[in-house]
Amino acid sequence: ASNAKFFVGGNWKCNGSVASVRTLVDELNSGSVPSGVEVVCAPPFIYIDYVMQHLDKDKYQLSAQNCWISGNGAYTGEVSAEQLHDFGVPWVILGHSERRSLCGESNATVAKKTAHALAAGLGVIACVGETLDQRNSGSMFQVLDGQMQALVDEVKDWSKVVIAYEPVWAIGTGVVATPEQAQEVHAYLRQFCQSKLGFGVTDTLRIIYGGSVNDANCKELALMEDIDGFLVGGASLKGSSFVTICNAAG
Ligand code: PEP
Repeated sequence: ASNAKFFVGGNWKCNGSVASVRTLVDELNSGSVPSGVEVVCAPPFIYIDYVMQHLDKDKYQLSAQNCWISGNGAYTGEVSAEQLHDFGVPWVILGHSERRSLCGESNATVAKKTAHALAAGLGVIACVGETLDQRNSGSMFQVLDGQMQALVDEVKDWSKVVIAYEPVWAIGTGVVATPEQAQEVHAYLRQFCQSKLGFGVTDTLRIIYGGSVNDANCKELALMEDIDGFLVGGASLKGSSFVTICNAAG
């Protein structure tokens, strides 16, 4: 990991029930998390209120998994960044590959959402990553450049942005990137940011890895120089596994 504060996000996706969320919150509350690690849990919108009331705030912060591209208004079914901020939710995940592929969110859309959420006072976990086809055909860096440049074009203040590198082929597949594969891309992304934004910004910018991270593979990934944390899907639904991942950098 670099000098930046280690950051772990749990993306619960569209999973859970009243009963399972209660169990997960209890498991998380009974785990211990190092004080030097920033941990964020992202439940589905409908459970945020319960989680906010019951999750130990000394260890965990809350995140949403998405928000609307602009403020309140006639946008049926959406939740705005302003509403999240008003409700006391400090973070939002934007540009997750599932939203890019299933909901058609483009690089420009993700970047505009990011800028809007930041302006509304939220921190943003902005996701980038290539598909297996793109990696195999040699267009990986071009794809990452496009995703990153869109963010660079829109974001003015990077202090509340966390970049999540999530190779699409590793998400939910059980095929984790090797530490070397992840490190290569993280170093590339840091270099990209350094050249566009300068060293001051990049010094504290967290670049976290996501894609089949679990309690068994997290430690060797956390040793890599440019991996500043994780975004965890499946393993974030099991309290003990997630807590182990939160302790990976220790
Ligand atoms: C994710 O969806 O952000 C993710 C990394 O999922 P998983 O850990 O299940 O691969």
